[in-house]
Amino acid sequence: MTDLPVRIRPEIAALPAYRQGRQAAADAFKLSSNENPFDPLPGVVEAVRAATTFNRYPDASAARLRARLADRYAVAPDGVHVAAGSVSILYQLASATSGPGDEIMFAWRSFEAYPGLAAVAGATAVMVPLTAESGHDLDAMADAVTDRTRMIIVCSPNNPTGPVVSQAAFDAFVARVPRDVLIVLDEAYAEFVTDPDAVTGAAVLAAGHANVVILRTFSKAYGLAGLRVGYAIGDHRILDAARSTGIPLSVTAQAEEAALASLDAEDELLDRVRHIAARRDALADRLREAGWDVPVAQGNFVWLPAGERALEIAEAFDAAGLIVRAFAGDGVRISSGEEESVERIVAAAASALR
Ligand code: PMP
Repeated sequence: MTDLPVRIRPEIAALPAYRQGRQAAADAFKLSSNENPFDPLPGVVEAVRAATTFNRYPDASAARLRARLADRYAVAPDGVHVAAGSVSILYQLASATSGPGDEIMFAWRSFEAYPGLAAVAGATAVMVPLTAESGHDLDAMADAVTDRTRMIIVCSPNNPTGPVVSQAAFDAFVARVPRDVLIVLDEAYAEFVTDPDAVTGAAVLAAGHANVVILRTFSKAYGLAGLRVGYAIGDHRILDAARSTGIPLSVTAQAEEAALASLDAEDELLDRVRHIAARRDALADRLREAGWDVPVAQGNFVWLPAGERALEIAEAFDAAGLIVRAFAGDGVRISSGEEESVERIVAAAASALR
């Protein structure tokens, strides 16, 4: 017996309840969710403001945005799927491919949503440890494939640790995975990557692997986390299955307009991305100078491998007006945010080592 009022599937009851990072005090920097620190561009705000058809349902397929993205990636509109955040698409693909007895594989530690989406699908999560450098061990992942593997998620750059998968390693991995297993390349942080050897969705699409889907988001580089828009590019038969499992009509007209306006303003937004990436590099260098073994950082965040001290160190950051994300027993992730946050982060990180 449990104290639940109704019967809940045990694997769901066992999931940790979702608790969002604390809201920042007025003088604190919120660096816990890898958000974009820049305010929305006026043109994007204007596009949202102009979308006033609140009394009507939105276009179920976000056709204008899909057409625009299809153009950009040189694919047919059916090869693009838009949903309320890329995390929605991960859940959809998990339910479309996997059920009880099936396996969903991903590296660990990686994005916190992955174990949950496997549980919701009723599938078994197969979590393959990261390398000593905090990157994907794609050989070990290929070795761990069984005849029950249905979906593999590769996160590059890896949230929360930072390293990318190289194009060569990704290509070799795809060649080792059976053709009927879905591989999702989660590129939530792709725009922040500066390593020329990193895997790119464009190169993967050009290779034409029918079992690989690329996942992208407007939340990070484009600064639309609050509006919820993400998308996938891939074989339309896989994306049709994702569409079938998704909650209908979840992308609002406002979100679609904001995404379209952001694509119009892409040069300006990518200029901001360059600032955030440069700040990330400077922050990682300073933290290494202070004595922290910071792994390669290619997203909009850096990773402090704090081990058992993770919670204690996050609390010390908190006291210094820095809201960061702690992963108990493992490390602390700090987003590359406002320029003014850098000195404060370096001071708090240095004093944590004293
Ligand atoms: N993938 C990764 C690796 C992420 O870190 C995140 C957000 N933290 C997402 C997907 C989901 O982003 P969204 O749903 O906002 O598109």
